Parts: sequence; C-alpha cells; structure tokens
Amino acid sequence: MKAVVYKGPFSVAVEEVPDPKIEHPNDVIVRITSSCICGSDLHMYEGRTAAEPGIVFGHENMGIVEEVGQAVTTIRKGDRVVMPFNVACGFCKNCVAGFTGFCLTVNPEPGFAGGAYGYVAMGPYTGGQAEYLRVPYADFNCLKLPEGTEFEDDFILLADIFPTGYHGAELADVRPGESVAVFGAGPVGLMAAYSCLLRGASKVFVVDRIKERLDKARE
Ligand SMILES: [Zn+2]
Ligand SMILES: [Zn+2]
Repeated sequence: MKAVVYKGPFSVAVEEVPDPKIEHPNDVIVRITSSCICGSDLHMYEGRTAAEPGIVFGHENMGIVEEVGQAVTTIRKGDRVVMPFNVACGFCKNCVAGFTGFCLTVNPEPGFAGGAYGYVAMGPYTGGQAEYLRVPYADFNCLKLPEGTEFEDDFILLADIFPTGYHGAELADVRPGESVAVFGAGPVGLMAAYSCLLRGASKVFVVDRIKERLDKARE
C-alpha cells in the first residue's frame, strides 16, 4: 500500500510499504477514508524528536473496517469507524480508571506508558496516513459511526482535536454563564472555544496573532 513515510527532518515521501495484517485475534484492518495532519506531527517532521526515518505518520484516522480478527466481538466488516489517537487496551489499571493515554500494556518501551498510531516512542503502531491501518484491541479502540459518507470532516475531529479541545474546557471547569479566554486559535484552540460554548459559557474570547485563525473563530 501507499503511505506517508518520514525520511528525516523536513522530509516525507509517499512510498510503497507492506500492507498491515491481522497480528492478534483482537485486531481489525481499516481502509482509511480520512487521516489528518496534526500539529504533533510537526514535532517529528521538524526534527524535534527522536523519530527515526521510516515511521509512517498519522494518528488521527477513520475509515471502513475491511478485515476482522476472530476475537473481535462488537466491530464488523463494513463498519464505519473513527479511532481515538491513543492506542489502549481497555483492561489495565490505568485504562479502567479512564487514563487511556497512559495504558500500561500497549507500549513495550521501558519507562513509557501509552500508545499511539504513527508516533515516536508510542509503540509499534504504524500510522494511518496510508491506505490501510491495523487497529489493536479493536473492540476498545474503534468508535462506530453512522453509515454513509456524510460528516466525514466532522467525525475525523473525534480522533484527537475535538476531545483534546473539550478536555481543555473540562480541566478549566468551564461552567454555564462564565466568560472564557482561549489563547491560541489553532484547531485545538478553536475546538476548546466551541466546547466552552457547548458547556454554556456566555462569552468566549479567542486570542491569536493570525488573522485567518481569528476569522475562523468568528464562524
Ligand atoms: Zn493529533
Ligand atoms: Zn490499558
């Protein structure tokens, strides 16, 4: 299949890589219909991490399930799914407590907890800026979506950007009637501002130096 492969700082290429396969009975293979480029990808792309050439990028992924491992019980071939960027098992102490970003079983590197698709030091999970993606613990990591092709650009935000922004509003304990200022109108900041409105904030200020981002905030 074709995939976006990291070649070194400021260099990526679309290359032919091996198709992912079911490696464990809990896996599914998803045919990618959308995969986002994240600000977090820039940490690797711009050479600020220990990422080695060869990583396939892409941790914000959605698509159609093509192949299902024999132990998967809730996901079927043909399901339209979006995957939270954290790969998690769903059964370890941290997952059960809700801290799936620090899953204790998915990262084989000593001293690390938590996994992600296509990300340095986050486990052996190939990214989804590719034609196909292997999703481990599929019953836990696939969020089933309504059938069809509608709202593709909205649903893909569920992989990272919307819940990440919402989490900011949650940590700030935004309550109905409050005034809120969000600093930074990138995708996560915009979703944080939107989340504040959903939580009933009466006034939301968005601060940024880039005009296009502020125009987007006004929408
Ligand atoms: Zn992301
Ligand atoms: Zn876990």
